[in-house]
Amino acid sequence: MNKPIIEMRDIRKTYETGALKVEVLKGISLTVENGEFISIIGASGSGKSTLMNIMGCLDTCTSGEYILDSKDINSYSEKELATIRSEKIGFIFQKFNLLSKMSAYENVELPLLYKGIEKKERKRRVLESLEIVGLDDRQDHRPTELSGGQQQRVAIARAIAGKPPLILADEPTGNLDSKSTEDIMNILLDLNKSGTPLVLITHDNDIAKLASRIIRISDGQIIKD
Ligand code: ADP
Ligand code: MG
Repeated sequence: MNKPIIEMRDIRKTYETGALKVEVLKGISLTVENGEFISIIGASGSGKSTLMNIMGCLDTCTSGEYILDSKDINSYSEKELATIRSEKIGFIFQKFNLLSKMSAYENVELPLLYKGIEKKERKRRVLESLEIVGLDDRQDHRPTELSGGQQQRVAIARAIAGKPPLILADEPTGNLDSKSTEDIMNILLDLNKSGTPLVLITHDNDIAKLASRIIRISDGQIIKD
């Protein structure tokens, strides 16, 4: 049996704003096996994005244990976490987060540049990723010259270009119409079928149901798995 990609034990997160302390995650324990597709569903404000940010090493927990791909995340510095992030995780966000001055090609290339991959291999991977999301004919377009669904497909190409062992998607279809939502979910389902574990955050029951496992969180706790 493969090692799990994610192991979380009793993860807590408290935000301090001025004198106010709010515990937003109240002891989350969760294992994601390699190859799994799980959705995390819950109402707005229940702590989904906070949990994803911790999973993605964009933020640290206040207490608890987090093992990502056999690495104990609490034992690394900020700088080391940036490297782990770029090696281990492909992110997809609700607002696409593409750079507006760059073409689709350049947006997808950026994480590969950051990883120090040489030019010929970069080009191969960028074109391969754009082809997977069906946008090989849009490589010179800037984000403003693409529809919302196409922008999200560029963001997916960017997330997969570095071949990360885990994909995290936070409300990836939250800004899209139903046709684009279907396209995006089909691409994500195909990626998972070809082996990449996928954690998808959503507040939409119909989208959550596409996963093989649904985790429901409410007020910072898992209420159903
Ligand atoms: P969800 O993604 O489920 O809508 P979030 O994880 O974004 O929920 O937020 C959960 C709670 O944490 C909310 O009450 C929110 O106000 C609070 N919160 C989120 N981020 C911060 C932050 N950086 N500082 C303080 N409070 C935050
Ligand atoms: Mg959120």
